[in-house]
Amino acid sequence: MSPSTTKQEETTVDIDIPDNYVAYTLKNEKPRPPFSWKNWRNEISWISATLLVSTPIIGVVGAFYTKLTWQTALFSIFYYYVTGLGITAGYHRLWSHRSYNASVPLQFALALAGSGACEGSIKWWSRKHRAHHRYTDTELDPYSANKGFYYSHIGWMLVKSRRRTGVADISDLSKNPIVRWQHKHYMKLLLTMGFVVPTVIPWLLWGDARGGYVYAAVLRLVFVHHSTFCVNSLAHWLGETPFDDKHSPRDHVITALVTIGEGYHNFHHQFPMDYRNAIKWYQYDPTKWFIWTCKQIGLASQLKKFPDNEVKKGVLTMQLKKLRETQDNLAWPSDNNDLPVVSWDTFQQQCQKRPLILVSGFIHDVSDFLDEHPGGRHLLVKMIGRDATTAFFGGVYDHSNAAHNLLAMKRVGVLHGGHPHGLDEKLIPPSQRLKIARYNELGSPYASSSWSDGEGMLG
Ligand SMILES: [Zn+2]
Ligand SMILES: [Zn+2]
Repeated sequence: MSPSTTKQEETTVDIDIPDNYVAYTLKNEKPRPPFSWKNWRNEISWISATLLVSTPIIGVVGAFYTKLTWQTALFSIFYYYVTGLGITAGYHRLWSHRSYNASVPLQFALALAGSGACEGSIKWWSRKHRAHHRYTDTELDPYSANKGFYYSHIGWMLVKSRRRTGVADISDLSKNPIVRWQHKHYMKLLLTMGFVVPTVIPWLLWGDARGGYVYAAVLRLVFVHHSTFCVNSLAHWLGETPFDDKHSPRDHVITALVTIGEGYHNFHHQFPMDYRNAIKWYQYDPTKWFIWTCKQIGLASQLKKFPDNEVKKGVLTMQLKKLRETQDNLAWPSDNNDLPVVSWDTFQQQCQKRPLILVSGFIHDVSDFLDEHPGGRHLLVKMIGRDATTAFFGGVYDHSNAAHNLLAMKRVGVLHGGHPHGLDEKLIPPSQRLKIARYNELGSPYASSSWSDGEGMLG
């Protein structure tokens, strides 16, 4: 073993975990006791709960007594995007997922901006987020959507977690000087970027310190908080699953609008190393546009994209799944395996009792269709007991696909030796020429050649 490997192993926390880590941990690690009136003082996460409860109150009350100037309003929106991008482009896509490389100045700017969102240090946040991806929807997911909308949105930060977050490696972040610096000075940075800077800028530039504090610092913070929290709640609850439906993440434009582009969360959980969340040009993903712009001006590089071929496979799988449901909900004709195989004589005998017509080797009972036939009853009556294959396929009238599909529904038997060779087009109704089959269902329904004569087709 080389010295570098040993060093690597010393710093990765997940190298020695058992193969059945999730089940093992759930079995052997006791959860904290349930939150109750007896233990609530101990069980509340006081620092985050105080911040999360007090800021909306201060913000709303403050707004009642503080005039909003247009400069402060514009600055608040601007600062919302600055600190929001610190989380989405920085904490999330850069540090949690390494979806691109950022130059030192960009890393520094993102670390500062992210501090202004007051959501913990990069190290703490990314540790939780990596566990969220690794253990999505399980007990080891720090903000599992299975515990409900409220819990995944904010509840997990108000009360201590009942279980320790699942293990996730952040050794790369522990070695990053900017991440270490931000972690070390986090409280100072939080106060400076979260409250001092957004108060001082409006004060110095247009003399509105109070408005700056209420709108650009406190209320802006409330919006950034709930906007990013929606990635854990709304994005696991609202929308479609176009890439995979194994877990809870979903895609929705509304989530994208409130989260600076993090709303295509179904895609994101499937392809977390991709710097994009939205892959279509018209979808709202300002975080992606920001990272792309940084690349154009030389601040970012190595923007990662998952191979398009694999992305399309996910999409196709989900489309086929939906189509399969539609297919399963329709009634289909009986195939060879279910139908009795009868001789020409039996066919003729049966014709004395009911109107049977032979087409492409299948015997059809047309009794409920005699009066419905668009070409008239007489054409069907003429064909009773006869082979109407040629007449059906263009000899008299080249029937539509719908007619062929309907005809197949009237099958009651197979004429022994009656299937014309090399005429699959006439044998298989149009609606069955292309169908969704699971990997273990690929045998042909027309493969059977069993021979059974009898009264079975009287059924
Ligand atoms: Zn998620
Ligand atoms: Zn993520």
